[in-house]
Amino acid sequence: MPSKKHILIASPEVRPLAQTGGLADVAGSLPAALVRQGVETAVIMPAYQSVLQNKAIRLKETGIRLVITQADQIIEGFLLHGELTPGIPAYLIGCDQFFNRPGLYDCDGIEYPDNPERFTFFCKAVLQVLPHLANYPDIILANDWQTGLIMPLLIIQGLDRPRGVFIIHNQGYLGLTPHDKLDILGLPPHFNNIDGLEYYGQSSLLKAGIVFSRALVTVSPTYAKEIQTPEGGHGLDGTIRHHAEKLRGILNGVDYTLWNPKTDRYLPAHYSARSLKGKRRCKETLLAELNLTGAAERPLVVMVTRLTAQKGITLVAEAAADLFHTGLNLIILGSGEPFYENMIRGIEANFPSQYRSVIGYDEALSHQLIAGADMILIPSIYEPCGLVQLYALKYGTVPIVRAVGGLNDTVRDFAGTNPKGLWDTGFKFTQFQARALILTTKRAIDLYNRPRDFTAMVKAGMKEDFSWDNSARQYLKLFEKVLAT
Ligand code: ADP
Repeated sequence: MPSKKHILIASPEVRPLAQTGGLADVAGSLPAALVRQGVETAVIMPAYQSVLQNKAIRLKETGIRLVITQADQIIEGFLLHGELTPGIPAYLIGCDQFFNRPGLYDCDGIEYPDNPERFTFFCKAVLQVLPHLANYPDIILANDWQTGLIMPLLIIQGLDRPRGVFIIHNQGYLGLTPHDKLDILGLPPHFNNIDGLEYYGQSSLLKAGIVFSRALVTVSPTYAKEIQTPEGGHGLDGTIRHHAEKLRGILNGVDYTLWNPKTDRYLPAHYSARSLKGKRRCKETLLAELNLTGAAERPLVVMVTRLTAQKGITLVAEAAADLFHTGLNLIILGSGEPFYENMIRGIEANFPSQYRSVIGYDEALSHQLIAGADMILIPSIYEPCGLVQLYALKYGTVPIVRAVGGLNDTVRDFAGTNPKGLWDTGFKFTQFQARALILTTKRAIDLYNRPRDFTAMVKAGMKEDFSWDNSARQYLKLFEKVLAT
């Protein structure tokens, strides 16, 4: 019998320990999906202050001390151990100097200036702890720029195992390291040329992952194409084209044990495609709690989002007057950059009876919004995969999306009555223009005003299946290929 493969997932965030966006959902749910495919999987991440305080899982000291050299500094760390869920080991790299701080990457929206040092330390620590893990990994599956340096470090150490596979969840985060910090990375100078980490006079830790991995994944087939274009490449499209042969797009999956309107612990009522009564109650409760009274018949549109330029907030602000003119209500839950927090707060002054904004990261409210809404708006400039539209589909909330990345791959645009009775699942627009957003929202509201047809679309969405199994099988095939060469 062939021995089991061992995979170590290295990620800067893993749900439920630490989360700023969809990467944490993926790193938190992919392990169980891989285990179902017969692969032993563990995760490793930084032991941020919030992780140690929140105690989402029980963590034990391993007694293992880390000593890492970075330029002329010697930095000490430690290794903690727990279980993400039964049978899935979680390893946490602690370091007072780098991780004992309030935010994951920033404090009040201002990025920590030593992020390159922090995640260089994490990458070096991952390599240092390998011999101490319960199972020595065959593959390290590294995620986004924070873990990119692991790929060249594996090469420098000349190890046959583990082999490096790198996932790009968002090419917009380049992990730039200024030239004068190069010596902290601990790479030979020739790694920093144009075919290596060099990025317009700086170094990119994302590029380190792209160039030096054995295989490269991004999180949807459309995004795999977009990052090879100047519009979607963030300056790395040439690099991606050069490495296109080892790139593939694998859609993220959903953990339907956490996102299921029949069982969701955050909802005031439960429902299914067979009976949508509970969804109606979710809407009424939400409207009452946010004091948007007397509006239950109006279409309720929501957004649940990180507040960054990528998410298209400017388009919503620009379109606001026309959107509210249609009679809809809008609720935005978001956290992130202060500029966009002010922008979404600002809308309320002009449309107090139809709009609410909630600033902050609120898991319970995110579920209540996605359940209670009729539609969800995702007008992103780009969207590598996107998870909220997948959650919305399962919750019978119709996505109105820009046709980019994973949004394009997972939503079928309404094309009118389908003679076969197969219904489309949402509304898409292409141009990043307020006018396109307004027209598409009006198309959605037209359908909303035909309740039978709208309900048919709602139910079509609820039947979609984006569970992990299919994607996990694709990862498994990729691991087999990487280990065979
Ligand atoms: P991204 O990874 O770019 O942020 P995704 O759609 O892939 O976008 O994933 C976003 C994840 O983060 C979802 O699980 C969503 O519910 C969650 N999320 C985003 N913003 C908030 C917020 N303010 N409060 C609660 N959850 C949020």
